[in-house]
Amino acid sequence: MLRRPAILCDPTLCTACRACQVACKQWNNLSAEETEWFQGESYTNPARVSAETWLLVDMREEIMAWGELVWMFTQRRCHHCIDPACLKNCPAEPRAINRDAHGIVTIDPGLCIACGTCVDVCPFEVPTVSERYQVARKCTMCVDRQSKGDLPACVKTCPTGAISFGEREHLIEIGRGRAGEFEKGHLYGVTEGGGSAILHVLPYGVEFSGFPEKPGGRVHRGVPTRSRKSSMAGIDGAGPLLIGLAAAGLTRFAERKRRVRESGTDPDPK
Ligand code: SF4
Ligand code: SF4
Ligand code: SF4
Repeated sequence: MLRRPAILCDPTLCTACRACQVACKQWNNLSAEETEWFQGESYTNPARVSAETWLLVDMREEIMAWGELVWMFTQRRCHHCIDPACLKNCPAEPRAINRDAHGIVTIDPGLCIACGTCVDVCPFEVPTVSERYQVARKCTMCVDRQSKGDLPACVKTCPTGAISFGEREHLIEIGRGRAGEFEKGHLYGVTEGGGSAILHVLPYGVEFSGFPEKPGGRVHRGVPTRSRKSSMAGIDGAGPLLIGLAAAGLTRFAERKRRVRESGTDPDPK
């Protein structure tokens, strides 16, 4: 494996074919979801990353100050943060979220108590608690493929070279060069939120990308409601609430064990 594997997403080369989205589903055995041609605001489809959609091509159109209509295709997926809020706040004991020696952040379904804390605190709204499996799920950066010397499925599939894989330092160099070709170009993920393994070339700057300028603050998206207060209070003030969340998670864990006993099946994803 690479020492610090990273993925560089360059929307200026992306045609929004969504082959990466499909490859991610195929490799990770993720179910299809109901989709709509037009979501009301954009053609992003399905509307958001979920427990069954770990990679989503976000499509947005913007009329720029100079009157030109531009399409922006950015990838929504786990950023594999260097200092992951999800990991720091996971109340499971032992923690269900791990950042390995290569910087890949994964959730252990055997340890996850489905409390939803990572859902609340992730600045990119990535992890989602699966109703079906009762665990939080997200992109694994295809660590299983990487460990065998293969490329992540999305990278391997992209027909235009809009997603590159390599050592983070090297991709930062390439990404900065690419972003530098645009007046307001910016390479996102080098420093934002402490940096991440997923890097995004933003030709028109952060403003038109939909990414938070300063990842850390978080707008709650509504699930699960039992942990809404933690995101509103902010991470610093969330100690007592996290204890409550842990208790809620343990209740759900007990419920899950009960259902396993009753059904005689293992609900954990393989
Ligand atoms: S993007 Fe969210 S889920 Fe992924 S490592 Fe960062 S905080 Fe965790
Ligand atoms: S790295 Fe693997 S799991 Fe992550 S988005 Fe790409 S295909 Fe999906
Ligand atoms: S496969 Fe490549 S070109 Fe197609 S949507 Fe994904 S990043 Fe864009």
